[in-house]
Amino acid sequence: MAVNITTYNHLINTLPAHVTLLAVSKTKPASSVTALYNLGQRHFAENYVQELVEKQATLPTDIHWHFIGHLQSNKVKYIAPFVYLIHGIDSFKLLQEVNKQAQKNNRIINVLLQLHIAQETTKFGFSPTELHQLVQQNAFVALTHINVCGLMAMASFVDNITQLQQEFSLAQNTFTNIKNAAIFPNFNTLSMGMSADYELAITHGSTMVRIGSSLFGARG
Ligand SMILES: *Cc1c(COP(=O)(O)O)cnc(C)c1O
Repeated sequence: MAVNITTYNHLINTLPAHVTLLAVSKTKPASSVTALYNLGQRHFAENYVQELVEKQATLPTDIHWHFIGHLQSNKVKYIAPFVYLIHGIDSFKLLQEVNKQAQKNNRIINVLLQLHIAQETTKFGFSPTELHQLVQQNAFVALTHINVCGLMAMASFVDNITQLQQEFSLAQNTFTNIKNAAIFPNFNTLSMGMSADYELAITHGSTMVRIGSSLFGARG
């Protein structure tokens, strides 16, 4: 299955050193993952639990698998044994379930809290106010098997640069405030930016870009 090697090389050669490239392989066959793996790519992301579980079972074990979809509590158990980073934590209940399943698997699971920045109502996540309230709760102390690594955000699906800049700025400011509050020792990741908007996201502090279609082609 073809991948866009020119785009991959361009990304590898131009992304700043502090930005991690996450290859979003959702809906694409395992052979596409293998093609990029053979070029050295190790971070891949999926947004459906079943698809992630199936790919993980057949592909090399040194792949870092990220979950970037909307995660239902009752499905956490399927990915808990191996998932590297869960991006879309959007409720405290989900966080508690991830902690529980991590404990069962004798692991500490890395998570990102999802911040709602888009004006669209369809995107999940906490508002900045909800997030500030959440992280100040002592409740996190009990979650011994969770490593809160930062935030994930998704901008509106628009071409309007001004609007995108406003949304990315909101994410950057929220990220910086929580980081500076020093509540979480490893709060270093801001997952933000996709094929169409990753360059703008990087100018607003993104440390991890999630690139799908420009690497693997449009999804059907
Ligand atoms: C599909 C997806 C991406 C990748 O989007 P592209 O536009 O194909 O690069 C990034 N983030 C999330 C959460 C996604 O679901």
